[in-house]
Amino acid sequence: MPVKTTWAVTHACSHDADHDLSSRPADQRAGYARWLAGRDCTNCWRAQREGNSAADRAAWLEKKRAEEQQAASWWAAKFRMPPLDGPERALAWGERSRHQLMTNAYRALVAEGELGESGWQEIEDQARTVDRAGWWIDQREAAPGDLPELLAAATDADRSTENPY
Ligand SMILES: [Zn+2]
Repeated sequence: MPVKTTWAVTHACSHDADHDLSSRPADQRAGYARWLAGRDCTNCWRAQREGNSAADRAAWLEKKRAEEQQAASWWAAKFRMPPLDGPERALAWGERSRHQLMTNAYRALVAEGELGESGWQEIEDQARTVDRAGWWIDQREAAPGDLPELLAAATDADRSTENPY
C-alpha cells in the first residue's frame, strides 16, 4: 500500500486539519506530520502573527508618541512656553500639537521665509498667551505659514490668563 499523501493532523492549538503532503518524499511524511502536530494550525498561526504585528505597531506608536512628548516638553521649557490649560487627556496632545506647529512655522516663516528673528519673537510672545490645549489641537493640521493669522484670531477664551508680558 502506498504511503498516504493526506494526513490528518491534530495541531497544538487542538484544531484538526488535513494536510496534503504529496509534495514530500514518502519516507518524510510521518516526520513532517509529527512536526506539524507540534505547531498551531494555519488559522491560529496567522491570527497570532497578525495579533503580534498589531501589538508591535501599537508599541511603536506609543514609543514615538513618548519621544514626541519628550521633545515637546523640552521645547516648551526652553522657549518658556506656559503649561497648557484644558482637560487632562488634552494636555499632552495639545503640547505636542503646539510644538509641531511652532517648529514648522519657524521653519516656514524664518528659516525658509522672510520673517526676521524679531518678527518671530512677536509670534512667540503671542503664542505664549494662547494656552488652551484645545486651541492647539484644533490647529494641528494648519499650514505652518498661517500661524500668525491663526494666533491673531485666537480669542480671550483661548487664554486662561491676561497677557503676562
Ligand atoms: Zn488552530
